[in-house]
Amino acid sequence: MEQALQRILKERFETNLEKATSQQVYLALMLYTKEQMAHLPRTQGERKLYYVSAEFLMGKLLSNNLINLGLFDEARQVLERYGHSLTAIEEVELEPSLGNGGLGRLAACFLDSIATLNLCGDGAGLNYHDGLFYQKLENNKQREEKNPWITPESWLTPTGVEFQVPFGGFSLKSVMYDVAVPGYNGQCNQLHLFDVDTVDESIIGEGISFDKEDIAHNLTLFLYPDDSDEAGRLLRVYQQYFLVSSTAQLILKETVERGYDLKDLHKHVVVQINDTHPTMIIPELIRLLTRQGMDMDQAIREVSLTCAYTNHTILAEALEKWPMDFLRKAVPQLVPIIEELDRRAKVVSDDPRVAILDDQDRVHMAHIDIHYGYSVNGVAALHTQILKDSELRPFYELYPEKFNNKTNGITFRRWLLHCNQPLAAYLESLIGPGFQQDGAELEKLLAYHKDETVLRQLGQIKQQNKVELARFLKESQGVELDPNSVFDIQVKRLHEYKRQQMNALYAIYKYLEIKKGNLPARPITMIFGAKAAPAYTIAKDIIHLILCLSQLIDSDPQVRPYLRVVMVENYNVTKAEKLIPACDISEQISLASKEASGTGNMKFMLNGAVTLGTRDGANVEIAQLVGEENIYSFGKSSQEVIDLYDKQAYSSAALYDGDEDIARLVDFIVDKKMLRIGDVECLCRLYKELVSKDCFMTLLDVKEYITVKEKMLADYEDELAWAEKSLVNIAKAGFFSSDRTIAEYNQDIWHL
Ligand SMILES: *Cc1c(COP(=O)(O)O)cnc(C)c1O
Repeated sequence: MEQALQRILKERFETNLEKATSQQVYLALMLYTKEQMAHLPRTQGERKLYYVSAEFLMGKLLSNNLINLGLFDEARQVLERYGHSLTAIEEVELEPSLGNGGLGRLAACFLDSIATLNLCGDGAGLNYHDGLFYQKLENNKQREEKNPWITPESWLTPTGVEFQVPFGGFSLKSVMYDVAVPGYNGQCNQLHLFDVDTVDESIIGEGISFDKEDIAHNLTLFLYPDDSDEAGRLLRVYQQYFLVSSTAQLILKETVERGYDLKDLHKHVVVQINDTHPTMIIPELIRLLTRQGMDMDQAIREVSLTCAYTNHTILAEALEKWPMDFLRKAVPQLVPIIEELDRRAKVVSDDPRVAILDDQDRVHMAHIDIHYGYSVNGVAALHTQILKDSELRPFYELYPEKFNNKTNGITFRRWLLHCNQPLAAYLESLIGPGFQQDGAELEKLLAYHKDETVLRQLGQIKQQNKVELARFLKESQGVELDPNSVFDIQVKRLHEYKRQQMNALYAIYKYLEIKKGNLPARPITMIFGAKAAPAYTIAKDIIHLILCLSQLIDSDPQVRPYLRVVMVENYNVTKAEKLIPACDISEQISLASKEASGTGNMKFMLNGAVTLGTRDGANVEIAQLVGEENIYSFGKSSQEVIDLYDKQAYSSAALYDGDEDIARLVDFIVDKKMLRIGDVECLCRLYKELVSKDCFMTLLDVKEYITVKEKMLADYEDELAWAEKSLVNIAKAGFFSSDRTIAEYNQDIWHL
């Protein structure tokens, strides 16, 4: 490696390892890694998977690629010899944030596991030039900035593969780039990212604004552009069709090149549709097959046996329904096919709840997937059960055999081996390296659950990670944290159903307690990290509330020694990798029934945090695995919540009026002290929302939340008992390896 790096530095920059800048060393390492990956064998097979997703939230690639190639330690040593630190070199890389949150991160974890299990499967997505916006925190508010990641030399490799994608009235050339995905000690797969070569970054105006109608120049400019207005939503349709048409053309081309007859498509290809965004691949494949001479019946049959769908949400507003007019304008060639699919579906069932086209001329994308795919899966046991029992019940009655559950997982390479090297090394010294490829082996750790030396060492590693996080936040944001305080962390996208507002009400509770003289046993550091969708007003108001509380507390010498509220700017994968290993309390407090799975919860558990959570999503499975004594659960059950919605029986006003404790907390949002610091309009709007609507039932669970959190903080003081809980959480996290998830997908759905 040393020689290769010297060679690259000489050729590219007329320099060497001694003199090179961090930037140059990074580039040399990246080029070297790309060379190594180019030499790896590609996985092959009779059947090939295409994992199609509008998002792949990859995170930085250098270290993870080095780890998977088995080159990480060597790279670190070589660099050290010349006075460079790999950690500093990692900082040079720009994060490709090509996803919003959990769904996109899941797709990235899956690619890692598919390659690690040596399965024949590639990803297909879009090459957004700007990832999810960069979040700046200013004047206690979020401001969005563009977030470019593509540099002249990047992980993208041009392939020369091109397709023509037809739209209503014009067509665009699609060019394919590949990002190599090496498995851990395995072979190499590819993530194909499609792009238009006419994209024009100069059309970006103030912040992240741009001309939404200039499709040829904006198609792949941004991930999920603002969809609050008509033009933005239409652009989304153009993006989705561009993705699926390019992917469908690639699939047919590769299938023929591999020597198979398209009549046997389903024997050689499986398409996993990640949420509804790539749904149009179903009519597009049918269109392309019929154009090649296959008759409609057969094309529909083949495609239906080829495509499988993953559902990620039961939030009604997140289920895509496109007005047929959008499709008539953007992709008229699909309209007759979708109409035909709708006609046939109405023959199968005349129940309007399962129709593809509704009476308002809207196309229900999920309904296409369910009628014309052979598998429908939810992403955690509870989520799949809710799909069968309520959300998709009429479909379950029609097609019970299609429904199955695949509980989400995370790759242990990124979320343990890379992000928490001290813990990974210590685990290896105790139980050997087997857990790196077989998560179940973490259970060997249980043998040490009463071993005081091990428990103290685990506490020591956590402490070291907290010091490291404090150092990082001092450097990056100028905030000083006390590593001896308890680190309570809620990081995830900002959404009312995730209930950051409930956590903020706890901060108010604690503030008022401290003001009364009820001091906590140990200082508490509450850490938040969250981006709000640019057009999601209440979410932005919640960020504002958190930042105002932070300022209020910081400037109060009576409270500041005991309580801190910190918001980490621009929460992304890189930040997650620094925050999660330093966490004591993992906040997973969504309204029961609303979080399909969560994957943040799994990352925290694997790194020894103890969960404070509702019985929602995969929290339910975490509780079953670790036992009730090693998790802090609270809140109304999903069934109780579903019943409240069904009967429209929830009234936040009644809870507010009938309970002084609750009223005191909510009132504080518009207390004089807060209004002096914050924006009156934002704070009043949020106050009103909570008192009069509270769509996600914050006030329903807030009191029990506070009680359980207080119990948790008290329990934290018993160092050994806490370390034992932490150990059990790590030991039981094996189930949440995405290797296990992918093995199940393969066994039950893909059959590769
Ligand atoms: C894991 C992850 C998420 C998903 O977090 P949840 O708590 O499951 O919503 C979102 N964003 C980033 C950057 C992540 O790494």
